Amino acid sequence: MSDGISIESNLRLVEDRIKTACERAGRDPSEVTLVAVSKTKPFSYILEARKAGAKEFGENYVQEMMDKIEEAENIDDMSNVRWHMIGHLQKNKVKYLIGNTALIHSVDSIALAEQIEKEAAKKDVVMRVLLEVNVAGEESKWGFESDSVKDACKSILKLPHLKVLGLMTSAPYTEDPETNRLFFRKLNTLAHELYEEQLIAGQDNDFRLPVLSMGMTGDYEVAVEEGATMVRVGTAIFGNRNYNV
Ligand SMILES: *Cc1c(COP(=O)(O)O)cnc(C)c1O
Repeated sequence: MSDGISIESNLRLVEDRIKTACERAGRDPSEVTLVAVSKTKPFSYILEARKAGAKEFGENYVQEMMDKIEEAENIDDMSNVRWHMIGHLQKNKVKYLIGNTALIHSVDSIALAEQIEKEAAKKDVVMRVLLEVNVAGEESKWGFESDSVKDACKSILKLPHLKVLGLMTSAPYTEDPETNRLFFRKLNTLAHELYEEQLIAGQDNDFRLPVLSMGMTGDYEVAVEEGATMVRVGTAIFGNRNYNV
């Protein structure tokens, strides 16, 4: 128990809801990967989630993520987890992520992609990424505008140390998840168009393509119904975040 919440039972509940959403949509639950978003939460919470079966963890801040990865290094149980960078990235932080992160969800500019190319080339690795799309056209959000994603893919295809596996979006905050359904549908359509036109990767050993990273605590069930292959859930697993501590 952490602060009176049971991470294990929260995780089971989220998994159940994903499964039920899959049933409603006629999908196979194995198509959906749950990324447990542990930002601002202590490492002990991550360990608890790991013990309960979580294998994928999402973080927003590079320093916090690196600290947690370092803590995980000496723990056997943590050796096969995958770390996902889901937050807005500054170019000068990219170098820390290469080689440590399974997937960067938040590539939101060509300049950032070029920086990833540079750092991945230095380490002679190919970095898997998603392009973040501001699918609702919100003023305050990072991400490519929907109608610029195709050109972005074409530019990034020229970067040999990047592999674009799909798209990611953070839909607007809402009390009613139904209001985000059309945004999820739009991202799905967009990703499949790019996939068919071979502007994103056609094959990957570790991820089902195209990756569609969409859905958070407030709207992940609707996202699954609309084809999400990855949902990023924090609050429903780890409880509310307190940014003041
Ligand atoms: C914090 C965050 C999440 C998780 O949000 P919850 O509402 O707590 O599930 C998912 N995606 C991104 C990009 C985030 O920053």
